[in-house]
Amino acid sequence: MGREIMNRKYKNLTLVKKDRLYELAYIDPITNLGNYNAYLEKIKEKLKIDDKKTIIILDIDKFKSFNKKYGHNKGNELLKRVGEEIKKSIRKTDIVCRLANDVFGIFLVGKVNVENITERLNKKISRIDIGNIWYNLRISMGVYICDKEEKNVQSMIDKAIIAHDSIKGKYHVQYGVFTEAFEQKMIRESEIENMMEEAINNKEFEVYYQPQISSKTEKIEGAEALVRWEKDENEISPSEFIPIFEKNYFIIKLDEYVYDRVCENIQEMKKEFKEIPKISVNISKESLLEKDFLEKYMKITEQYGISPNEMEIEITERTTVDTNIDMKEILEKVKKEGFSIAIDDFGTGYSSLNMLEMLPIDTLKIDKTFIDKIDKNNNSINLLEIILLISKKLNLKVVAEGVEKNEQVLYLKKVNCDFLQGYYYAKPLTLENLKRYIKENKKNR
Ligand code: C2E
Ligand code: CA
Ligand code: CA
Repeated sequence: MGREIMNRKYKNLTLVKKDRLYELAYIDPITNLGNYNAYLEKIKEKLKIDDKKTIIILDIDKFKSFNKKYGHNKGNELLKRVGEEIKKSIRKTDIVCRLANDVFGIFLVGKVNVENITERLNKKISRIDIGNIWYNLRISMGVYICDKEEKNVQSMIDKAIIAHDSIKGKYHVQYGVFTEAFEQKMIRESEIENMMEEAINNKEFEVYYQPQISSKTEKIEGAEALVRWEKDENEISPSEFIPIFEKNYFIIKLDEYVYDRVCENIQEMKKEFKEIPKISVNISKESLLEKDFLEKYMKITEQYGISPNEMEIEITERTTVDTNIDMKEILEKVKKEGFSIAIDDFGTGYSSLNMLEMLPIDTLKIDKTFIDKIDKNNNSINLLEIILLISKKLNLKVVAEGVEKNEQVLYLKKVNCDFLQGYYYAKPLTLENLKRYIKENKKNR
C-alpha cells in the first residue's frame, strides 16, 4: 500500500517526518480518510487477493449549495460525517476514500448485493446529523461490478463514473450500474463530438424537405426542413446526433446553419415558382434561448431577401416546459416578426392545455405514435379526436406526422385533420426533388 512506497522512497528520513509525508500524500485532512492516491494504491493491493469486487462512486448532490447556505466549516463537517456513515455501512476489509470535493470512492471486496448496499448508504446519508441537527441530502452513485480479472484500477473507476453519469438528470434514480451498452453509447457520442466541427466546415450537413399535404385539396402547402448528415457515404441519423448536439450546445451552430441553407433554398425556389409551400424549420430549445437568437435569424432572413411569413418555426413540447415564462416572451417576439409557430411531437408528454392557450401557437403537429394507432377498425383513436376538437376550439391548424397508410389518410380526412405529412406522400426530399414534387403536384390537380 501507499505507506510502503513512501518508506522505500524516503529511506533516510526520520520516522516522524515519514509519517508526516505519508499524511500529506495519502490522507484527506477533512475526513481523515484516504485521498485519491490512497484509493488507487489500496485497490491495487486488494486486486491481488480477490477476484470479485465492486466499485461505487458516491456523490452528494448540490453540495455547493450546502456550502453556500451553511458555510464551509459546516460543509467540512458534513463531509466528515458522510465518510463516517459510509465506513459504518461497509465491512472492515472494504475501502472508502474521499476522491474529490464531495465525491467518495468505495471498494467492496467479494460478493455484494448492490441493491442492499446502495439502499443502506442512501438511508444513512440522505438524512444525516451534524451535532444534533439533522440535514436532508440527496446522493447519487455509480456502480461497477467486476467479476473478471482486472488490472487497471483507473479504468475500473472510470467505469463507475460512466455509470454515475448515466443517471444524470434522472432524479428518481439513485444509482446506475455500468453496462457495456452504455459504454458503447459513450464511445459513439464522443466519436460524433470529435467529427462535428469538421462536418459543418466540410458542408457534410444537408437539408432535405418533406412535403405537407392539405387533406382537403391534396395540394402541397408546406414542407419540413430536416437535416441530413452524410459522412463517408454513411448516413448518421438525426435522432442519433441531434440529442448529442442539444447536450453539448453544438445544436445552436447547426440550427443556424440549417436555417441559412433553408433561406437560401427558399430564395432559389422563388425564382422558379410563383407560389412556394411554407417551409418549417426545427429549432431546438438551446437555440431559442440564446440571447441574440432572433436578431441573428432575422439578419439571415433579410440577407436572402425573404420574409418570416414564408416560414414556420417548429419547437417540441419539451421546449415549452420548464421555462414557460421566458418561452412566452421569446415566442411572442418570434411571432411578432411574422413567423408561424408549430408545436412538434404533440402528445408525447409534458405540455398542458394551459400552455396551448397561453403561447402564440399556430400549428399542432400530432406525433406519429397517435397516427400509428389508427387501424382499419379505427379503435383507440379517441385521444386523436380530442386533440382535434381542442385545436379547432383554439383555432390551431393540425398536422398529422408519419402518415404511412391509406387507411390513415382516409380516417384523417374524415376527421378534418388539416395537413398530412409522411412516407405515404413523400419521404424527405432533396431540394431538386422537392421542386419536382411541387411541379407534379400542380399537374395532378
Ligand atoms: P421530427 O421533427 O419529429 O421529424 C419527423 C421525423 O419523422 C423525421 O426524422 C422524418 O424523416 C420522420 N418521418 C417522416 N415521415 C415518416 C413516416 O411516415 N414514417 C416514419 N417512420 N418516419 C417518418 P428525421 O429526419 O430522422 O429527424 C429526427 C428528428 O431530428 C426530428 O424529428 C427533429 O426533432 C430532429 N431534427 C431534424 N432536423 C433538425 C434540425 O435542423 N434542427 C433540429 N433542432 N432538430 C432537427
Ligand atoms: Ca419537426
Ligand atoms: Ca415531430
